[in-house]
Amino acid sequence: MMPTSVKDPSFFTEANFPAFSGEIFRPGDPGYDQARRLWNGAVDKYPALIARCRTGQDVAQAVTFARRHHLPVSVRSGGHNTTGLALIDDGLVIDLSQMKQVTVDPARRIARAEPGLTLGEFVRATEPYGLVTTTGTCSGNGLGGATLGGGIGWLMGKYGLIIDNVRAFELVTAAGQLLTVSAAENADLFWGLRGGGGNFGIVTAIEYQLHPVGQVLAGMVIHPLANAQTVMRFYRDFSSAAPDELTIYAVLATLPELGPAIMLIACYCGENLAEGERLLAPLRQFGPPLVDMIKPMAYSELLALLDPAAPDGRHYHDTAYSLKQPGDEALESLIACAQAVTSPFTAIVIHHVHGAAARVPAGETAFALRETHYAIVNAAGWEEGEGAVHIAWAEESLARMQPFASRGLYVNFMGHEGEAAIRDAYRANYERLVALKSKYDPTNFFCFNQNIKPAAQSERGL
Ligand SMILES: Cc1cc2nc3c(=O)[nH]c(=O)nc-3n(C[C@H](O)[C@H](O)[C@H](O)COP(=O)(O)OP(=O)(O)OC[C@H]3O[C@@H](n4cnc5c(N)ncnc54)[C@H](O)[C@@H]3O)c2cc1C
Repeated sequence: MMPTSVKDPSFFTEANFPAFSGEIFRPGDPGYDQARRLWNGAVDKYPALIARCRTGQDVAQAVTFARRHHLPVSVRSGGHNTTGLALIDDGLVIDLSQMKQVTVDPARRIARAEPGLTLGEFVRATEPYGLVTTTGTCSGNGLGGATLGGGIGWLMGKYGLIIDNVRAFELVTAAGQLLTVSAAENADLFWGLRGGGGNFGIVTAIEYQLHPVGQVLAGMVIHPLANAQTVMRFYRDFSSAAPDELTIYAVLATLPELGPAIMLIACYCGENLAEGERLLAPLRQFGPPLVDMIKPMAYSELLALLDPAAPDGRHYHDTAYSLKQPGDEALESLIACAQAVTSPFTAIVIHHVHGAAARVPAGETAFALRETHYAIVNAAGWEEGEGAVHIAWAEESLARMQPFASRGLYVNFMGHEGEAAIRDAYRANYERLVALKSKYDPTNFFCFNQNIKPAAQSERGL
């Protein structure tokens, strides 16, 4: 007889997964502890079962199994989400981390990629053809989650968000059905998947438009935090006047050799690097900086630049907010947050969303924050042990910046802000997303995400 409790170990047998081609990890199995580990070492959850899939069919079977046995489900691609949404206590983790196939069609400038790839792995597969597309900021991030939330990154000024470069998805729905989703097929889902996160199903492959990008002129200049007032004002004015080809972030962090510092990290992705040199000259001359490491490099090299600052397994807690054009007072508060850090592994990361990413009409995809703005993450990091003081820094920094923040935060930078913040992120697109959720996931089977509730649950106040 079938046991009825998910806690009963005999519940989870390979017999329940006929033709499942992946691996299954139960508590006590060799590999279980490794499989429940995420990038954020502060996340410590104990799933009842981890189904590590290899194919879309595996994913469909896992979904059907979970529905039949009323198991709560989480979805994992890269496992990089700081909040730890990829794992669930006592439920089924549908793990796509080994789904890493990628094929490139250089003639059509298209790549088909599976969501378990990291951004670095994806770029290293397309770059040999002289082709890349927008990805996030660092190589370790998962392609699946980064794409579904929208995907802001170094190339967004010229080529838009990651989702602006998606041509099609393959998706397993809450009903266990495998669908192709594109402008031509299931167009309503195509709209919702571009920014709506994991709300509508499990994406098992993504087709991207690639662009010819040779070397980028990129890297960082470093200033001491002691000069923060003038450096941050320069950063605001310089970045906000930058053309589409030039994207500049600022990172306020403690560097091993230099101490508290501001890194201004630039990426010029235009065809003419001499023009990039001209555009970047004021950035390189200002100060002057303590260090100037800007040079022509492969896009994958730029992506790897910040990786050492965010290693796997360290403990993290993020808060985040958006700023439109920040005034001097906002910058002073932000600098005060940087001066108050409680750990050498903590950083404030400022992403400049602009250019093509900000020109797409807000209703064209689910991602609604289509205005020029700065997306800012207070990223607290610490090694093993008590995190309360570092978490308090991240929360206090958010509270300090709240008076200056603009409405709506990128969902991939959210923690547990809840429904009101999710509504603000989607703005006028929210009701359309609720309708889509009600159609494709009426029982809210996919709820471990920045959740858009189906109408029936919203009405019942669930
Ligand atoms: C150090 C760091 C830097 C970052 N930099 C950037 C950046 O520059 N730009 C940017 O846009 N974001 C950035 N992010 C945020 C990042 O995009 C999100 O954390 C994203 O969720 C990571 O993707 P993942 O595949 O690793 O997610 P996971 O942790 O594996 O999953 C998180 C959630 O995403 C959803 N999901 C993931 N894969 C699928 C799938 N295949 N189908 C359905 N739902 C899925 C699920 O709801 C899941 O719970 C950064 C995060 C970190 C930690």
